[in-house]
Amino acid sequence: MLAISSELPIVDCQLIRFGVISEEEARRRILETVSPLDERAVPVAAALDCFAAEDYFARLPLPAFDNSAMDGYAVVASSCKKGGRLRVIGEQPAGPDRKLCVGGGEAVRIFTGATLPQGADAIVMQEDVTRHGTDISVNVDVEAGEFVRRCGCDLAEGQMILARGDRIRAATVALLASQGFADVIVGGKATAAVISTGDELVKAGEELQAGQIYDSNSALLGALLQRCGVSATVVEHCRDDRKSLDDAIKRGIKNHVLIISGGVSVGEHDLVKEALHEVGAKIEIWRVAVKPGKPFLFGWFESETVDSAGDTPAGPTGTMPVLHKCFVFGLPGNPVSAFVTFLQFVRPAILRMMGAMNLDLPQVPAKLAVGLTSDGDRPHYIRGRLEHGKFMPFGRQESHALFGLSQANALLRVGVGQSLKADQIVDVQIWD
Ligand code: AMP
Ligand code: MG
Repeated sequence: MLAISSELPIVDCQLIRFGVISEEEARRRILETVSPLDERAVPVAAALDCFAAEDYFARLPLPAFDNSAMDGYAVVASSCKKGGRLRVIGEQPAGPDRKLCVGGGEAVRIFTGATLPQGADAIVMQEDVTRHGTDISVNVDVEAGEFVRRCGCDLAEGQMILARGDRIRAATVALLASQGFADVIVGGKATAAVISTGDELVKAGEELQAGQIYDSNSALLGALLQRCGVSATVVEHCRDDRKSLDDAIKRGIKNHVLIISGGVSVGEHDLVKEALHEVGAKIEIWRVAVKPGKPFLFGWFESETVDSAGDTPAGPTGTMPVLHKCFVFGLPGNPVSAFVTFLQFVRPAILRMMGAMNLDLPQVPAKLAVGLTSDGDRPHYIRGRLEHGKFMPFGRQESHALFGLSQANALLRVGVGQSLKADQIVDVQIWD
C-alpha cells in the first residue's frame, strides 16, 4: 500500500492508479513508446557498436582481382612438373599490375597479394623451388588453382554486407573499409543522464559515517550504458529531498534518457514519482511483476526546444522549434534490481533508439547444475555462472547481493510456478 505522510505533497491520482503489470507488457509498452533517433553519418572508423541505418552492398568483389596467396612463382600448372626447370621472366610484387604474361616453361616471381600474371593458373611456394640464377627447378607437383585467390571467391559484388539494424562490429568496420566506404549511415546517438538518489549514499573517496554506503549504482549504470554504446553525460547524486531531486531531474531530462536509481518504491522517502509528475513527466509504468525489480518505473517527458542550428528558417523568427523527448527509467536502488531491470527494460529501449533490430540479450543453452523451483508470484531472474555449458546459481539470490552478481555471468529466468530439473537444458541470458 502506498503510504503518504502528511508532510508530503498531495499525490496526484495519476500516481495511485498504477497496477503491477507483467514483464512482457512492460517491455511492449516501453518499446511502443520509444522510437529510433535521427540517423547520422559517421566515419567508418568511428562506427564500432553503432547500428546500420541502411542496408549496405558490396561495391567490389573480394578479392577484387585474382592474386597470389604466397610468396613464390606464378606458373602454368600443366607445364610445371616435379623436377622441371622454368625460366623466370619477371617479377610482380603486391601493388600496381605490371601486366606480365607467363607461358609454358616460364615463371614470374610473385609475392602475397600481387596480381596473378596473365596465363598463370597456379603459384609454387618459394620453399618448393630451388633458384639457379634466372631459372628455378620445381621440387613438387603443381596443380591448377594452387595458392591462387580468385576474384570474388570471398564476396561477390552486390552481395549484402551489412543489414539495417545490425550492430557494426570490428570486422564489419574492416569490411566497410575494404569496400572504400569512408562514412556509414547509422542510428542516432543517445545521450543519457544518471541520478542516484538516497540520503545514505556517499561518493567514492569520501568518508563513510555510520549508516552510510558508497554509491555503487552510478558506476553500475554508467558501465551498463557503456555496454550499450552510450556514455552517461551527467551523473548526479541527490538526497531524498524534493528540491534536490526536482533540480536534478530538470537537468537530466535534457538528455534522451534519464535513469534514476532508488526512491521509486512505496516508502515515504521514495519521492521520484511525485517529482517526475511535478516536472510534467508522463508516467506510463510503475511496478512490474519481476523479481528482483518490482518498483521499476517508466515515463517520458516532452519539451519544445529551439533547433541549435537556428539557420534553417522555418517561420517568421528564423528558428525551428523541435520537440525533445526524454525517456525516464526509475530503477529500484538495490543493485541487483537495478541491474536486472536495466537489462530487461532499459537496454532494449536504448538499442531501439539507436536503431538496433535485435533488442534481446544473447541467449545460450546451458545444462542446469541443480533443480530450481519458483514458488513466488513473479518471474525470478537467478544469477549464476555459466561454465563449460553448465549453469550454476551463484551467491545469495537477494536484491542487495552485489558480490554474487559480480561473480555471475548469466541470468536464468524462472517463470511463476516453473519447476526446472537438474541436468535440464535451459536458455540463459548473457550480457558481457
Ligand atoms: P531504494 O530503492 O531507494 O528504497 O533503495 C533500496 C536499497 O538500495 C537500499 O538498501 C539502498 O541503500 C540501496 N541503494 C539505493 N541506491 C543505491 C546506490 N546508488 N548504490 C548502492 N545501493 C543503493
Ligand atoms: Mg532510497
